[in-house]
Amino acid sequence: MARIIVLDKYTADQIAAGEVVERPSSVVKELVENAIDAGARRIAIDIEDGGLSVITVSDDGCGIEEEDLELAFQRHATSKITSTGDLACICTLGFRGEALPSIAAVSKLTVTTRTHDAMTGTQAQIEGGALVAMAPAGAPPGTSVTVKELFYNTPARRKTMKSPATEASLCGELISRLALARPDIRYEMRAKGRDVFYSAGSGRLADAATAVYGAAMAREMIPLDFTEEGIAISGLVGKPSISRSTRSHITLVINGRYVRCTPVTAAVEAAYQTLLPQGRKPVVILSLDIPPERLDVNVHPAKLEVRLLEEGKMAALVKRALLEALRTKAIIPSAASATHRKYQSGLVMPQFDTPIRQERFSGLVQSQSGAQIIPESKNSPDVTSTTPQPYGQLSESRFAGAEEEPAGYDNQAVPFPELQPLAQLPPLYILAAGEDGLYIIDQHAAHERVLYEDFLAGQNSAQSQCLLGPVTLELDYREAALLTERILWFTEAGFIIEHFGGNTFLLRGVPSRFPAGQEKTIFFDLLDYFREKGNDSSRTEFFDVLAASLACKNAVKSGEKLTLTAMEALLRSLSGKANPFTCPHGRPAVIKITYRDLATRFKR
Ligand code: ADP
Ligand code: MG
Repeated sequence: MARIIVLDKYTADQIAAGEVVERPSSVVKELVENAIDAGARRIAIDIEDGGLSVITVSDDGCGIEEEDLELAFQRHATSKITSTGDLACICTLGFRGEALPSIAAVSKLTVTTRTHDAMTGTQAQIEGGALVAMAPAGAPPGTSVTVKELFYNTPARRKTMKSPATEASLCGELISRLALARPDIRYEMRAKGRDVFYSAGSGRLADAATAVYGAAMAREMIPLDFTEEGIAISGLVGKPSISRSTRSHITLVINGRYVRCTPVTAAVEAAYQTLLPQGRKPVVILSLDIPPERLDVNVHPAKLEVRLLEEGKMAALVKRALLEALRTKAIIPSAASATHRKYQSGLVMPQFDTPIRQERFSGLVQSQSGAQIIPESKNSPDVTSTTPQPYGQLSESRFAGAEEEPAGYDNQAVPFPELQPLAQLPPLYILAAGEDGLYIIDQHAAHERVLYEDFLAGQNSAQSQCLLGPVTLELDYREAALLTERILWFTEAGFIIEHFGGNTFLLRGVPSRFPAGQEKTIFFDLLDYFREKGNDSSRTEFFDVLAASLACKNAVKSGEKLTLTAMEALLRSLSGKANPFTCPHGRPAVIKITYRDLATRFKR
């Protein structure tokens, strides 16, 4: 091993920069936070090539004194705290004194600044962390920082950047979150000189939400206001009708800081648990004001996470606040609680909520007629040959439901058995007899599987159906960028989309057999997919997500009553599918209880 040395400033700054400056959006975050701390009312963000070639953040804040300017670029130089004692009650966004030196270490940076009572401004240029020039300069009060050629001297980091369009959309997403965190500040973002985002800075969260999500979505959000034990919780909570498939639309703000905090997000989701179908996430903007000594903001180099001192208590409070807001606005349908009671009584059989719906299977019956794909059985039913085990040998676990195996779940090559539907068990099961026992089929999962494979089989000849009236899609900046980048796949799938102006698009057509009224939900599911996958998205997966989404929305629901003919048709269609035993999400569609299991259970 070599001897231990203290690293030189250049190397140390580069190491620190690696933690703080991950990509262009992290530079934007640090610069905007500095502007907010400087008391800015208006912040303008200009980026080029997704921020990889130029990022400029200008504010009308307090400015930096000329004699402090050089100091601002030294590590651990800050005007926001003076000692560890201050760490316990931080009221500013910055406090580490690391952002400016870190950004300056990996870019070519120019800062122009003027305090409100100075006659002229000052401009400094820093390259790779070293000050190369400083001179007086004419400037309006406030500060403007321009970061050029980010990562020019760290080629390895530069290589990990995504496409300029993706980096730009990440910057846009970040600005949206900051605008939601501080509705009192006016944000203007431009990319390549074009306006991409603007928030008025009116101080009203509803206005900021409209700027970010569009008026249609903002209208579906309910204000929340709750104070207890010195903790103020406010924000906007989305009605269940505007749920999303990822957490991308949950924004958490703690003491004015946009952060991630797992226990609080979990509490938000818990509040929606009974209101949203499985896998759906709410749209929520939640702002918590907590006495600074009750949280630790110094747990993450980019200050993206905070730790709450009384996590459990805070989570419970958040959940209660959300439930109260959702309940007072009568979002929780009374029918839901009524059904709940019915099930609780234990004696009342679950009932179907809807009348018989056979028509949707009539097509299936026809298309499958004469095309029996059910394999010939090789073994004859084996009920009599089952050797009953003496009581003593029966292990406890055999009674614990171990026998109800997902039929063919482990082995997808198992042929689908010939099944005779016997009855429907409300609210969503089909009971069917097979040669080796009783089969229980989840009608929704089974129908999903059928529709999913049918859609994929026809995907290369995808047809569009025109909508009677266009559906307006108000997107946020990131979504608009994602859509533009992938418009070809949408078109190939059968969507007809037209640019209306700004981040607004018109949906004029959808793939054929599209469930009416679900246009937006399914469209946004697809955008969420791109948001999550970024550059890793693939055409195959895109069609898969679309097929699964269409299948789920079109499939018979729990509570729908089916006739025997409809059940027969469904089972016949299912038997012809490549993976009939699971739904497109991988959950079992069919389970079986063999005659052997029954014999054992009845102790025969
Ligand atoms: P921190 O924000 O943690 O204090 P930074 O490295 O981000 O550290 O900034 C160092 C100092 O530079 C800040 O403490 C602040 O005094 C000054 N500063 C940075 N940006 C601005 C700005 N936009 N307006 C006024 N002062 C600024
Ligand atoms: Mg800072």
